[in-house]
Amino acid sequence: MPATIIMGGQWGDEGKGKLTDALAANAAMVVRANGGSNAGHTIQTDQGTFKLRLVPSGILNPHVRCVIGAGVVIELGTLVNELRGLQERGIDTSGMMISDRAHLVLPFHKRLDQLEEQRREQDEIGTTLNGNGPAYADKASRHGLRVCDLRRPEILRRKLAIEVDAKNQNLAGVFGDPPLEFQPLYEDLLELTEFLRPMVVPTEVIVQDALHAGQRIIVECAQGAMLDIDYGTYPYVTSSSPTAAGACQGAGVAPSQVDAVIGVYKAYTTRVGGGPMPAELLDETGELIRVRGREWGVNTGRPRRTGWFDAVAARQTSRLNGITNIALTLLDVLDVFDEIGICEGYRVGDLAISHVPALLDELSGAAPDLKFVPGWSQDTTHVRDFADLPLEAQKYLNVIETHLGAPVRYVGVGPDREQLIDRLHA
Ligand code: GDP
Repeated sequence: MPATIIMGGQWGDEGKGKLTDALAANAAMVVRANGGSNAGHTIQTDQGTFKLRLVPSGILNPHVRCVIGAGVVIELGTLVNELRGLQERGIDTSGMMISDRAHLVLPFHKRLDQLEEQRREQDEIGTTLNGNGPAYADKASRHGLRVCDLRRPEILRRKLAIEVDAKNQNLAGVFGDPPLEFQPLYEDLLELTEFLRPMVVPTEVIVQDALHAGQRIIVECAQGAMLDIDYGTYPYVTSSSPTAAGACQGAGVAPSQVDAVIGVYKAYTTRVGGGPMPAELLDETGELIRVRGREWGVNTGRPRRTGWFDAVAARQTSRLNGITNIALTLLDVLDVFDEIGICEGYRVGDLAISHVPALLDELSGAAPDLKFVPGWSQDTTHVRDFADLPLEAQKYLNVIETHLGAPVRYVGVGPDREQLIDRLHA
């Protein structure tokens, strides 16, 4: 039962899109498992740069069927725009399928996301303000509207009317915001549904049929495991489970059908939004990493916080997700440093901490316990065989393997599709 999970091992933006695109060349199907349009997966091919938000990163491989799974929350307008944009660039989207169980992100979710972030003031989570959190909250509290509701206008009308009414009470009563009008919202949904209708299917059945036929399936997560709602840095997390377990749940794949869990890690650490980050570099080294790694959000344009590789957090996600292989991306960003830091622990006063604690306040004022290894100070962007990587780079990868307890199989040395080393295919 050959399913491969591709998931982020840090705080997202690890380059999962590029790896998924590359591995999709040998797969029949790519299933996106979680998150919403807050994801931004960048893929660079000879056709240019593609920034995908909801569409699975297999879409640039014409033979691949692409599935948006039940665990995803969908803002229909964003999805339709994304698909139209791809079609205009000559990309074949006929293999797209959308789970009829996926939940909808509606305009009131977006507005609530903005208002709730404003209310948190300096404690804001740093969401992308796309409404995904409130949509997942409605899903959990059993108020959500799903893709299947779109099929029957009378059902949609009834459920939407109840929700608009309830949300207007909240918007007006709690936030003093003007109410949303039902009719234009309803009509918009009907119009968008026309475009998407042929793609709406029970994807879990199709995914299982493919697995039983022995087809290779890739399950693609958005975000990263340190943003997981259970094991991430709560409350600075996403509202879904970007983990191996979440991948199974969101895609409709059983754990026993998975034979590889590829953890995608950057060669250093970044994160967007709030929360403690002991390995953060607030100096010119951090700025150099940001510039070389082009560390600004795909959708938001926000600068990402940067730091040395946080082996404490990475080890935690590697273990909890049973990572079978590491994909270490953006190694080329470190090409210019004489020495490279690895955060092997945290220190608060005399206290040494070797895991990410549940209570983040315990990390306030934490200093990184850094170990430095020699850099390689040479360009790696042209390297395609693992053995041709500078010895110091190989040693750096080896240190990471030891910390994470898994082998590095893929190494990213640039944003292009070809700038990827597969250690097993020299
Ligand atoms: P994702 O959300 O995990 O798919 O990652 P993003 O697309 O948000 O961020 C990764 C960024 O790094 C994108 O701009 C990619 O084009 C770029 N990228 C991916 N792999 C590499 C790499 O190995 N080297 C460099 N320099 N850039 C990379």
